[in-house]
Amino acid sequence: MRTPQTTIFRRHMMPWLISLSLAGVSGCTRAPVTQRTQLNVIPDPIMRSLGSTAYDEMLEQLDIEKKSDDSKTLNRVGKKISRIAQKPKYGWRYALIDDDETINAWCLPGGKIAFYKGILPVLKNEAGMGFVMGHEVGHAVANHSAERLTQQATVLGGLTVLYMHLDKNTDLPEDSKNLLMAALGIGLEVGVMLPFSRKHEKEADIIGMMYMARAGYPPEEAIKVWNRMRKQAGKTGVPTFLSTHPSHNQRKQNLRDWLPQAKKRHARNKLERDTQATLWTTTD
Ligand SMILES: [Zn+2]
Repeated sequence: MRTPQTTIFRRHMMPWLISLSLAGVSGCTRAPVTQRTQLNVIPDPIMRSLGSTAYDEMLEQLDIEKKSDDSKTLNRVGKKISRIAQKPKYGWRYALIDDDETINAWCLPGGKIAFYKGILPVLKNEAGMGFVMGHEVGHAVANHSAERLTQQATVLGGLTVLYMHLDKNTDLPEDSKNLLMAALGIGLEVGVMLPFSRKHEKEADIIGMMYMARAGYPPEEAIKVWNRMRKQAGKTGVPTFLSTHPSHNQRKQNLRDWLPQAKKRHARNKLERDTQATLWTTTD
């Protein structure tokens, strides 16, 4: 049977592998906004396919809220922010997980995003959601998973083995499969997302703040989200989002450094309506 992976392999991988062997590995790309040089030898179609399969698997194990006002808001904000990223081949999706306890959001390659309901009071308003959405979109457009997978490709026994696995010609040993999942950000237990590195978190913050500003949201709200996240840690213990996004003060400084640029972007794109009006409040 011709699986999507097989088609992707034939269309994208074969020519790519041939040109790779002819030209030698040259997988240097630049991250959007920060222009950081990255080493990424995993082609986009492969990452998109992996992300899409993993997303469906994740969502199957979680309760997804559909058609509620909150999920409509999430989709609206998601579309607004991802439009800025200009990635027409990404099949952007935004899921709201019906879980009030978990304060978290995550993203899989190719723009597959999920927010837990527990994070809404910390976001407080549409602008706050715009920042975290921008942060998640940032992980996707800067190909952080592909970069991580590139670093682990040698451990996986080389790229060819990985591609043969994707082509369903060979089974990866269990620990290599775990590494592949970990590169995508999925823990051993499906439904648990692993943290990105500090470098990637910092970059996702910068992209998030610039994108939210370009989408018309006041970028000051980004710093307020982090403050509320910190406050929440004092009340109910460290939220998952904070525990996987370390070094709080450094992050705030990083955002402050980029704030003047973000403000300029916002001034040109300001939305008419008040996006900082409270939509979600904590009960405690
Ligand atoms: Zn992150």
